This record gives sequence, structure tokens and C-alpha cells, in this order.
Amino acid sequence: MEKLLDTLIENNKVYTKNGKVASYIPELAKAKSEALGICITTLDGEEYCSGECDEKFTIQSISKVITLMLAILDNGKENVFKKVGMEPTADAFNSIINLETKSPQRPLNPMINSGAIATVSLIAGGDGDKIFERILKFTRKITGNPDININEDVYKSEKNTGHRNRALAYFMKSTGVIEGEVEEVLDVYFKQCAIEGTCKDIARVGAVLANNGVLPWNGERVVPAYVARIVKTIMVTCGMYDASGDTAVKIGIPCKSGVGGGILAAVPMRMGIGVFGPALDIKGNSIAGVKILEELSKELDLSIF
Ligand code: GLN
Repeated sequence: MEKLLDTLIENNKVYTKNGKVASYIPELAKAKSEALGICITTLDGEEYCSGECDEKFTIQSISKVITLMLAILDNGKENVFKKVGMEPTADAFNSIINLETKSPQRPLNPMINSGAIATVSLIAGGDGDKIFERILKFTRKITGNPDININEDVYKSEKNTGHRNRALAYFMKSTGVIEGEVEEVLDVYFKQCAIEGTCKDIARVGAVLANNGVLPWNGERVVPAYVARIVKTIMVTCGMYDASGDTAVKIGIPCKSGVGGGILAAVPMRMGIGVFGPALDIKGNSIAGVKILEELSKELDLSIF
């Protein structure tokens, strides 16, 4: 397996040259655009890694998977999907257009920015700091890594420049999707995006989803199976934004990307996969990361379809 991963890294490294690191969050522009790493965690506890798999990056939109689990746990699926839809989008992850034009006026799904901001506004726990503490604690549990924390510089960088997300949130306040205090909700959202981890950490989250909500390393159930199933389904239809259809056809695995360059993938009953390659394509997905997953899926016959 390790040999296969080394070959995949070698074969796909060239694609990093075709992408660009995200720069709309100034701090992210500092990432090494040629980096590429992969880690696989199987459900029987094996871990295989290659490339820059110990490099830390901010998980960004991958956090949307984590907050969706918590929001469903706290509110039940009916109440969450009253506020946020479950339909794919053909627009960019930070698009505002559908918030006004679609009826009902709510975000299309929890995997785009508007939907994730609405989702985090539903998480219980008290004020923003306490809610974020819960998110962080849950993230540490499902990565099996008690050292997970946020990257303060990325958090501040996004908080200072995240005006598009502010626009989305205030619009949703005006239509009643967000009920709480907007700046507090946004602060939690900026922090969740700045959570820092490695390919190994996100591979483990993938393995928990692949294992229907049970931590493969100690058998502890962290979410009911139906929550893991909903999250994996929405990852397939919406996890790669307006490239989700393309990903479903070419890779055929529930995936969730982030503009920090990570992709989390969950192969039901088999493995979790974490990929890191900060050079992105125009839709905001890791350009070499998508390629490496495509080749891996073919090699190991991982498509669920
Ligand atoms: N923090 C980023 C943002 O809100 C997350 C987006 C992403 O990873 N696609 O713009």
C-alpha cells in the first residue's frame, strides 16, 4: 500500500503546478503550493501515509462536516434541514445569489459557506466561546488527537477580511435563517475554519464516517449511524461544491474539500482518506488532491457506485 501511495504522489505532484493557493484569506497565501500528501486509515486500524502527510494546514470547509454532525445531534435532522436545504449547487462555495432567489429563502446545503454559517448557528452550548469549545473537543475526539487547535493567524486573517461571509450571515439574519447574534455566529465559523490538522487527522475523521459513527480505534460510538449516513450522502452531492457531480463520477467516494488544500474522503466500511495539496483549481478544490483520489479510487476500486 505504501508503495502505491508513493507512486501516486510521484505521478500527481506535477498537477500542483496547474493550481494556485487561496489568497483571498491573506494568511493562506503563505502555503507551499507544491506540497502534496496523503494518508489512509483503514477500519482495522492500519495507517498508510506518503508525501507531506505531517504538514499542518487549516481544515477550512472540511469543518462543515464536523459542525453538521453536531447540529444534527443537537437539533435532530428535521430541525436542521428546516433551516438549511440538502440540494447541490451549481454556484461557487461563497455565492449569495440563491439566498434571495430560491424559495424557501434558505441556504441550499450545509457544505457551502452560507449553509455552514446557518448550521453552526444551530449548535447548542451557550455563548460563542463555549460552542467553539464543544466543536474543538468533538474534533479532538474524532481525530483521536488531543493536540488539535486553531491557527490563530489564519483565524485573525479571515476574521479581518471575511466580508463575503459577513454579507451571507447578515442576509440570513434578515430572512430569519439565523436567529442568534450574527457576529458571534461568524466568530465561531471563522474559528472552525482555522482548525489545524494533518492528512492523518482528516483521514481519521473519514474513517469514523466510513465506520458509521464509531471510532475504529476504540469502538466508541460518537454519532448514531443515521447521522454518519446523512453526512456522507451530503458529502457526495455537495461536498466538492459545484464540482460534486464531477467528483461523484470520477472518484465515486463521499468527499469534502477545504480551501486550505485538504480533502477528507470516507469509503464506507473500508477506510478514511486525507489528502493535502494547497494548490487549488478554480472551484476551490485541491487540484492534485482530486487527481490523486481519482487514481487511488481506480487502483483500489473504491467507487461506491
Ligand atoms: N474559511 C473559508 C471561507 O469561508 C472556507 C471556504 C472553503 O474552504 N471553501 O471562505
